[in-house]
Amino acid sequence: MGKPAYFVGPWDLNRQLACVPDSPQQGTVVMVESVAKGSALPYHRKKLVLILSAMHHFAQELRQDGYDVTIVNAPSYAQGIAQHVAERQSTAVIALKPREWGLQNALQEADKACTLGAPLEIYDDGGPGGHFLLTRQAFADWAKGRKSLRMDTFYRWMRKRTGWLMEEGKPVGGRWSYDSENRKTPKGLQPPSISGHKPDALTQSIIERVEKWPNHWGSAVGFDWPVTRQEALRELNAFLDHRAENFGDYQDAMLHGQPWMWHARLSTAMNISRISPLEIVEAALERYQDGQMPLAAAEGFVRQIIGWREFMRGAYWHLMPGLRGANLLDAQHPLPDFFWNPEKTDMRCMNDSITSVKEHGYAHHIQRLMVLGNFALLAGLRPIEVSHWFWAGFVDAYEWVELPNVHNMALFADDSLTTKPYAASASYINKMSDYCKGCRYQHTKRIGPKACPFNHLFWTFMVRHRERLKSNYRLAALYKTWDRWDQEHQQAIQNASKNFLDGLSPAQHGWSFDDDAC
Ligand SMILES: Cc1cc2nc3c(=O)[nH]c(=O)nc-3n(C[C@H](O)[C@H](O)[C@H](O)COP(=O)(O)OP(=O)(O)OC[C@H]3O[C@@H](n4cnc5c(N)ncnc54)[C@H](O)[C@@H]3O)c2cc1C
Ligand code: SF4
Repeated sequence: MGKPAYFVGPWDLNRQLACVPDSPQQGTVVMVESVAKGSALPYHRKKLVLILSAMHHFAQELRQDGYDVTIVNAPSYAQGIAQHVAERQSTAVIALKPREWGLQNALQEADKACTLGAPLEIYDDGGPGGHFLLTRQAFADWAKGRKSLRMDTFYRWMRKRTGWLMEEGKPVGGRWSYDSENRKTPKGLQPPSISGHKPDALTQSIIERVEKWPNHWGSAVGFDWPVTRQEALRELNAFLDHRAENFGDYQDAMLHGQPWMWHARLSTAMNISRISPLEIVEAALERYQDGQMPLAAAEGFVRQIIGWREFMRGAYWHLMPGLRGANLLDAQHPLPDFFWNPEKTDMRCMNDSITSVKEHGYAHHIQRLMVLGNFALLAGLRPIEVSHWFWAGFVDAYEWVELPNVHNMALFADDSLTTKPYAASASYINKMSDYCKGCRYQHTKRIGPKACPFNHLFWTFMVRHRERLKSNYRLAALYKTWDRWDQEHQQAIQNASKNFLDGLSPAQHGWSFDDDAC
């Protein structure tokens, strides 16, 4: 008589999850290397190493404790599961709700058509036995009936619900958010150095395997992201010991050649469940209670996890499937080639941010939002092409998190989560970074050979979308400034943008980008 087969997705690598049996006697474990998923996008080679190595390490950890674990290489996840079920005569397939739309549908379809070979028992990926703090239903209940979804409202609700940083029903310190204090620049201060995780023999063999795969982006060599549970915990402790205290202060700052700054580097391990959001928050709160983390830093960090992260995951399921096709601003410019080849741009901020992604599969939040995303917004790049680039290029990217961040937050392709686009000219980048000092463009110039593209693109964007944006009171002063300039200057700005965009070569690649491949 067979036993149930537990399907552990590549992002479910944690024993606390309901898709992992409590004991070896309960059932077999099946993991799948899906050919369709791996070849759907030109994924960064370091991301492929991360997924494969973490999966193989988790299998090894379970086997050491007596579990029967199989890793199937199959054309798709569903086919891999079916193959295992047929071989083991499994009585059921136990899984967590997949984090991405495509796989959730594929598994449900396969179950309906009985092609998995055994009935599917599927559990929520949030709440007890899940990865996220909230069940999908809990978010849906919160969102129900709301005209707009706002992160700050959601965050307050989460604080009250969890009781974290709360005192007698009120926020500790009297304020919900210390975000306004989190905009300092580290004048003369260097970020702490980071030591990555040395690949063991298993990871090394995967690096060698993946390095040979054609057409993927970046190099697998130099891979040093955490893949084991111990490494994930070490990453958490390194952050709490050396960077957490200053996390809030310098959260929005950028320095040339400094990819990590004071950021946590935890999304990579967290998004594959090697470490849970709950234990990360609890560890940070412990530091706060011990007096090792100031309130503003603790609040700022907790907000990222229980606020932004949970909110984005809820928003994804709330807005799908329409979110993929969203293009509110009718942005139609193709993705420029330099997104894949950073040496082809002489914009120092873009070059630095894209080089970081090409090298590590990572750029920190403010590079993602205010440099890369801001450029894509102002230049009017097609949202789906930008989204595919983020999804393929970052080691922590999965559709549930990159899509709402790219389409809603960065590109304003859908206005369900924000009232206005995060558009900024070069003065913001100059204020928050040291990029402009060494750049061939001048951050103060709007026109002429040294004009910074962020400036003429910014004004052209604002004018192009005036009808939509003019009623926003925060933008009124901006349109007054534009109206004060003579027509000749206005035209020169618009011409500069047009010439700049006409001069960009579109990205060339042979990928079909299949969002649903799994
Ligand atoms: C255009 C764009 C694309 C993004 N794509 C991704 C992505 O593919 N995967 C991803 O995990 N995050 C994404 N983010 C959110 C955020 O930038 C990353 O989570 C963060 O940079 C990861 O690095 P870190 O762990 O050092 O984070 P820190 O800056 O130290 O923040 C701590 C943690 O907070 C959480 N967090 C903070 N902001 C967000 C947010 N907006 N959405 C979700 N989680 C958040 C993350 O889990 C992160 O690990 C994106 C943001 C933007 C603007
Ligand atoms: S001058 Fe413009 S392009 Fe150069 S670094 Fe500053 S913002 Fe970027």
